[in-house]
Amino acid sequence: MDVNEAWFARAQQVIPGGVNSPVRAFRSVGGTPRFLRRGEGPFVWDEAGVRYIDYVGSWGPAIAGHAHPKIVEAVRAAACDGLSFGAPTVREVEFAERLCALLPSLEMVRLVSSGTEATMSAIRLARGVTGRPLLVKFEGCYHGHADSLLVKAGSGALTFGHPSSAGVPEAIAQQTVVLPYNDSAAVEALFAERGDEIAAVIVEPIAGNMNLVRPVPGFLEALRRLCDRAGAVLIFDEVMTGFRVGLTGVQGLTGVTPDLTTLGKVVGGGMPLAAFGGKRALMEHLAPLGPVYQAGTLSGSPVAVAAGLAALDLITQPGFYDALEANAAKLVAGLTQAAAAAGVPFAADSVGGMFGIYFAAKVPTSYAEVTACDGERFKRFFHGMLARGHYFAPSAFEAGFVSAAHGDAEIAATIAAAEAVFAELARG
Ligand code: PMP
Repeated sequence: MDVNEAWFARAQQVIPGGVNSPVRAFRSVGGTPRFLRRGEGPFVWDEAGVRYIDYVGSWGPAIAGHAHPKIVEAVRAAACDGLSFGAPTVREVEFAERLCALLPSLEMVRLVSSGTEATMSAIRLARGVTGRPLLVKFEGCYHGHADSLLVKAGSGALTFGHPSSAGVPEAIAQQTVVLPYNDSAAVEALFAERGDEIAAVIVEPIAGNMNLVRPVPGFLEALRRLCDRAGAVLIFDEVMTGFRVGLTGVQGLTGVTPDLTTLGKVVGGGMPLAAFGGKRALMEHLAPLGPVYQAGTLSGSPVAVAAGLAALDLITQPGFYDALEANAAKLVAGLTQAAAAAGVPFAADSVGGMFGIYFAAKVPTSYAEVTACDGERFKRFFHGMLARGHYFAPSAFEAGFVSAAHGDAEIAATIAAAEAVFAELARG
């Protein structure tokens, strides 16, 4: 038994599945998760001392690379001043001001500790303000694990949702309607039938939880128009895409401005920090100003906010996103070329610092197309790359991430490894 196997066996005795978040368990690809000991720049090391070039980046936050000295120093300094007060601090105000200055939709923000809290709170706010019950979400989008969001599609587009997790009451799931991503006609039909019951539409404006799926032209615009017409709240869940696809999020890229935005991952520089915000007229309904309750003992943690401010300093440097985007584009082009050379059906896409790889002839635009990709080939690709020291997400349904610390040498090494793996796949 190697070191990772030994720790995984021990972990499973005291932690359900041996992990504190399910996808870490390698269930969909098989094998033993690596217990990571250390990260620096584009690299992580496991407990056996094996080094990997990392394309998970803590599932998004590590945009400047692991253990960036400026973020680590900010955390160290803040920690020395006290870990938590449960009282306002100056840094929270500075951080909120900077978020509002960067993202078009933000006039006010509230800080929370996870993406789940951000989406859960945004939805409560939308329901509280509109006095309506229904939430519209899209198949293949993930918005954290609040009850209203763990819902799968009913049998027809206009039917009620059903729980996708045990422990979510039917009565709650029925208040969520799940529609196909990129299907404006389905949204239009729902609004025509039940527009006056809809509190909010929540969407990943570029989906990153069913691999990477871009919105088709007109989809986000249709959501904006339908929400405006019905008086429903449009929520962009930019927990993944915020400061990942560019400095102004998908809202900046597309020019479609949501009423509320949720942020997480990059915004906390690797610490537990997330946010939701939007129009002042909506946000002023939150306690203590208004009747929608929301709170947190560790919300706006001084240490987490210090990390977030340091991350914002890094990503607002001129040229940061040009370099990041170039890295992802180089990786995607190299992988695509390597697969083509080996004759393996493969497609890839990237936006800013996030990318998708698909064992399919073309880039998918829907959840149905993503699930039709060759999952067996993905598993073999994943393990082939891992064995060669390249750490990709252990699931075909997750977007990948590059950091600004990935250099040409790392990208080239990954492409060279992929050439060997694709050749193996082509042999059958
Ligand atoms: N929304 C999106 C788009 C996400 O990708 C995630 C996490 N992957 C969440 C919400 C939930 O965030 P957290 O895991 O921090 O609760």
